[in-house]
Amino acid sequence: MKTIGLERSRRILGNSAAGSPARRATVLGIGLWLAVLVMATGAMAGEPAPAAAPAGAIVDNFDYADAAAAQAAWRAMGGTAGAVPAEVDGQKALRMPCNFRGTKIDRASWDRPVQLDMTACRGMRFRVRCRDTSPVAGFSLYLQSGDGWYATHFAPTDREGWTTITLDKEDMGTEGRPAGWGRISTIRLSAWRGQNTDTELVIAGMTLVGQQAAIAVVRGESAARDAPREMESVVQYTRTVTTCLKELGLDYSVVSDLDLVAGRLKDTRLVILPHNPSMPDAAAETIARFLEGGGKMMAFYGMPGRLWQAVGMQSGTHVPQKFDGYFASIRFQDAALAGAPPVVGQRSWNIRGARPVEARSRVAAVWFDKDGKSTDWPAVLASDNCIYMTHVLLQDDAAHKRRMLLAMAGRLVPDLWRQAVEASVERVRRAEKETTGKVRDAEIPPRQVQPFRDTLARARAGLADAASLSKEGKYPEAIEQAEKAQRGLAEAWCLAQRSQPGEHRAFWCHSAFGPPGMTWDEAIKTLADNGFTAIVPNMCWAGTAFYESKVLPVAPEVKEKGDQIALCLAACRKYGLQCHVWKVNWNTAGRAPKEFMDRLREEGRLQVRFSGKPDDHWLCPSHPENQKLERDSMVEVATAYDVDGIHFDYIRYPDRDGCFCPGCRERFEETIGVRIANWPADVRRDAALETKWLDWRRDSITRLVAATSEAVRKARPKCRVSAAVFSNWAVDRDNVGQDWKLWCERGYVDFVCPMDYTPYNGEFESMVARQVQWAGKVPCYPGIGLSTWPSQTDIGKVIDQIYVTRRLGTRGFTIFEFNATTASEVVPLCGKGITAKE
Ligand SMILES: [Zn+2]
Repeated sequence: MKTIGLERSRRILGNSAAGSPARRATVLGIGLWLAVLVMATGAMAGEPAPAAAPAGAIVDNFDYADAAAAQAAWRAMGGTAGAVPAEVDGQKALRMPCNFRGTKIDRASWDRPVQLDMTACRGMRFRVRCRDTSPVAGFSLYLQSGDGWYATHFAPTDREGWTTITLDKEDMGTEGRPAGWGRISTIRLSAWRGQNTDTELVIAGMTLVGQQAAIAVVRGESAARDAPREMESVVQYTRTVTTCLKELGLDYSVVSDLDLVAGRLKDTRLVILPHNPSMPDAAAETIARFLEGGGKMMAFYGMPGRLWQAVGMQSGTHVPQKFDGYFASIRFQDAALAGAPPVVGQRSWNIRGARPVEARSRVAAVWFDKDGKSTDWPAVLASDNCIYMTHVLLQDDAAHKRRMLLAMAGRLVPDLWRQAVEASVERVRRAEKETTGKVRDAEIPPRQVQPFRDTLARARAGLADAASLSKEGKYPEAIEQAEKAQRGLAEAWCLAQRSQPGEHRAFWCHSAFGPPGMTWDEAIKTLADNGFTAIVPNMCWAGTAFYESKVLPVAPEVKEKGDQIALCLAACRKYGLQCHVWKVNWNTAGRAPKEFMDRLREEGRLQVRFSGKPDDHWLCPSHPENQKLERDSMVEVATAYDVDGIHFDYIRYPDRDGCFCPGCRERFEETIGVRIANWPADVRRDAALETKWLDWRRDSITRLVAATSEAVRKARPKCRVSAAVFSNWAVDRDNVGQDWKLWCERGYVDFVCPMDYTPYNGEFESMVARQVQWAGKVPCYPGIGLSTWPSQTDIGKVIDQIYVTRRLGTRGFTIFEFNATTASEVVPLCGKGITAKE
């Protein structure tokens, strides 16, 4: 299993039907896609007053004659005030009142009955504005399909004006079993209660996106049925490709292979197969016909047998790497693919040994190993109607990947070059305007003024070059200049920022060995040079230690690579950084040795779900031996090493379904002095009992925090105790038993780091505003979710969110996370201004 680390998934509030538990937290994650795939069958039943959605795709233009008409279309759910039509900034819009003051509603919510076919588009787009998002815990959009829903989260980011929201189908989670994208019957908009004050959401111009796009990305959803273990990869690698397309400014639709029947590709010129381990015959047939009719295809790694013939290439067998770094880069033969970078980094672990067919196709690029030697294995093949890559597209070397993908697409459909270049020049032009508009020269620290001016001037010159090269049709050269100008603007923006002395500036580091490719010494020096003050390295899990532990099983790598706390700490001392050792509590993430797990299982120390199913990844928090193990391991760190702090993570239950093991029953019954007749059903049936249960569960977690804190302070009084916590305490204290406001009140923790992993600055600000209240006197260093954002090097957003923490007076922040990419692409840019050393 993949490591899960800090809570990285975006979380949304569940769209529970009436009668079910008030607010469930749902994790929007890849796994949920496994439940999506029952696709539309049969015809649509007639429904009242559907919004017609012709091609061209206006879903709702909000042109309602009066309130009655608007409220008939957008039906307010119980207790929510009705929507009112209005003209805002010359746009037809609806005002949606979020009436939280003096009401008991969980959310303000409106349902719009529709009859939508979203099978051949990218997603949905609309515009919103909300002057004050602080009363709202989160905004959600749900699309009903059959008995289930597609669900996602959004947030207005611009307080003064409109925010355009684009929701991609592929980013939506599911609830229940939706009946497919062809059968959307309701659009539900919800604003979840965060505070007891009123606000208003204004919405306008709702359309579909990506219909009639030239590019159709075929998502291999049949894998859920035919190759379930591949489904996670299908989701991941499809997204890698669509992210590139988005960044290139190319329009596309995403079509499920289950929906790919004749007619679906009528507007398509290029089909992309990002990772399709299986494919229904009908879909392969449709693509074959499409190719016969002059269509083009770009494919990665696998494709159905008949398509190999159609594109004039020969499939091969699986080729594993001979050693780590055997497949390290893709090198294009001279002029084999116009506009492709000569070398593209990609660390693949295996490939498909596909070969060209004489007179039909040829090798365009070859795999080289990490020492720069050719492996002679083809990396990219090209024929008249297809460009094929022998592995999936990975995220490494993102800038070159993007260019390679454009060169591949542009070779097959030349007009895509023009589209991408124009989009790129336009994007840089906007960025230039924005940078110039926002920067006040007088506010730039004096020593940064000249570098700022020089960098900006170079970027402007690059933009001018890009624009003229584009006019001349020299697209590859134009895009190179545009990208250089873009980087220059970002750097100029960073140079225009002011540092604030005295801040706690930390990075979580998920790898116990530091960012790959760097020693701890190099890694810590990078942070220190750029003004950071602390690192929070993940050195232990519930059943694994990356140091010489006498309490936890020691990871085998320690023998070979050394005691990681000792190495990290030595570097921290050398460069003056604080080291707060991060433990993943309770959770083993499949990393603990088998003997250890067997023993815990035998002793009844692992969690059991409400359903009765054992949950082998989680230790039962109420078991006294587990309490002792967790406490002792953290006290050991604080005793054996001169660390600045210890840091709790996963200091909670997985959700409402844990833990219902026999031991929990016994201990709970003993605490409340009552025997429960029907375990565990009564705990949910009886409201009074449920209240006691939730209290008891919370207490199991709090007890560990209190005991550990006390023992650590006794062992090393200077050692500070902190925790990574969920963002919405008010709800999470029930959902996951995490009562961190109480920990602050009682002084068990010295600071908290709520994981506010949203790319939306407004939402981030609302979260932090609530959290500083909950934390009270205890410092709150909010978690900035850089590595969870769509763009994991978005320095502009990092700067925005740091300013939010400054406005709200937190005097510090914690960024997730310190890895090879952030170490090389983000940390140095922070050091130019926002965190510059004094
Ligand atoms: Zn238990």
